[in-house]
Amino acid sequence: MADTYLEMAQLLFNDVVMTPSQLEVKYQQRALPEGAKVTRIAPSPTGFVHFGNLFPALVSERLAHQSGGVFLLRIEDTDAKRKVEGAVEMIIDQFNNYGFNFDEGAVKSGDSGSYGPYRQSERVDIYHVYAKMLVEKGLAYPCFCTADELETMRAEQEQQKVPIGYYGKWAKYRDCDIDTVKQFLADKKPYVLRLKSPGVLSGRIKVHDLVKGELELDENYLDQVLLKSDGVPTYHFAHAVDDHLMRVTHVVRGEEWLSSLPLHLQLFNVLEFKPPKYLHISLLMKKEGDSKRKLSKRKDKEAALSYYHAEGYPADSVMEYVMTVLNSNYEQWHQQNPDKNYRDFKFSVSKLGASSSLFDLDKLLDVSKNVIAAMDSKTVLESVVDWAKQYDIDLYNHILSDKNYALKIFSIGRTGPKPRKDIAKWSDVRDYISFFYDDMFEYKDTLPENISAGDAVMILEKYKGIYHSDDESEIWFERIKKLADELGYAMRPKDYKNEPEKYKGHVGDVSMVLRLAVSGKQCSPDMYSIMRILGHDRVIERLEKAIGVFGGSN
Ligand code: GLU
Repeated sequence: MADTYLEMAQLLFNDVVMTPSQLEVKYQQRALPEGAKVTRIAPSPTGFVHFGNLFPALVSERLAHQSGGVFLLRIEDTDAKRKVEGAVEMIIDQFNNYGFNFDEGAVKSGDSGSYGPYRQSERVDIYHVYAKMLVEKGLAYPCFCTADELETMRAEQEQQKVPIGYYGKWAKYRDCDIDTVKQFLADKKPYVLRLKSPGVLSGRIKVHDLVKGELELDENYLDQVLLKSDGVPTYHFAHAVDDHLMRVTHVVRGEEWLSSLPLHLQLFNVLEFKPPKYLHISLLMKKEGDSKRKLSKRKDKEAALSYYHAEGYPADSVMEYVMTVLNSNYEQWHQQNPDKNYRDFKFSVSKLGASSSLFDLDKLLDVSKNVIAAMDSKTVLESVVDWAKQYDIDLYNHILSDKNYALKIFSIGRTGPKPRKDIAKWSDVRDYISFFYDDMFEYKDTLPENISAGDAVMILEKYKGIYHSDDESEIWFERIKKLADELGYAMRPKDYKNEPEKYKGHVGDVSMVLRLAVSGKQCSPDMYSIMRILGHDRVIERLEKAIGVFGGSN
């Protein structure tokens, strides 16, 4: 029998010149410190990167870099039908946007590192070395079944109510004699290479997952395809060879891969590779009514990683959010260490939740407001410019028309112990700053009900007369208080609260009218700063304009 296997291997792979031992030498064990972990992300270039991919990616990156190991990017592009032009570049860009530094792997110009190639489509020769080895050992064989034959088999299995698939006695070409194989090859009959699975139907295996703990799973008993009819491997086969030769120690991926784990472990076993350690991360779920479901590429715009970039969430906000979900003690640590970055936090596998987490956009917005509030105005300006250049060219042009002016706007309320939190993402900026630009200025809000149009006009008229653009802030406010008093409004909200019947309102109402006049909004940052930035003439212009609008003549 052994001779037949060798002959078969030679027949199928007579062009394979390397051996597994040569590959072992070529891709040596890595010289890394004790305990260093080698991790990877292995996306397929489909043109879509799911937000959920950030979770295993961050865990992989942290495990590698916290231990002095290696974090690599491998492109799993064996499925030509799903391949999209430019998708590899897009993957690289998207992960770079989020601050991922790969130590090796696919780069735009090719590869970087000595364990490559890092694209599966360029590793076909390597896979054939192992495919040949499996045939030699009687652990893989060519299968010449046509699509029709497979369909007939399926129909029969359904009728007999037995598990569907290519296995055991159903596996027609499992023990096909070599002469038939020779004949089929001579006839150029297409074939795939299948694993001769050592597993049995209803067999169980025990697995240890670093997140999920001890698991008992169904053993793989199917003679899975290893090489497709064009000689290109399936992902399952390719990834086992790759993780071994790239000396990956820890595989971190979404729990949707748990069902493939028995097959993967079986492949490591037949290939005589030491399996890596596994971490299957829980999926991020979306709440829908009373139930939960996966974030869906089709239904949820937030499922696309590109969405967060387009909305202008700073990378640090997104990563902080991801870390908050991954490690329950992160938030507390961050509160205690507000000046530190999520990379300074000691990420730990034991804190990873074994059950699913809920996707919470409000939480992300909140995290992001804090991240942006902690930035200095220059960083905000540059980040907005970068973002707007790609996503809001009109805003970009406005800002670039006078960068110093924009810097002043972004400086409002940024210093001091409690910086303002008006901006959660760069797409909020347009609305936040538009009133500073005359051509974008508009009245977004109307007068509050407790202030009559007549009073508003009076406030504005009077204020025009007392406004001095170079007043210090205290004097500036004193004037408003005096004006309030003069017009029958309490100088302090407290006084009004105590004796409401005595006043028309309080100084806050007077300020509100002025605020509406200069910013068009009831809620805006510090009004003194706004007036300083607008400057004398434009403040007067806005007061006049508002007199017209509130008075009804405009
Ligand atoms: N290529 C797989 C994916 O697209 C990778 C699965 C794994 O990490 O093993 O997610």
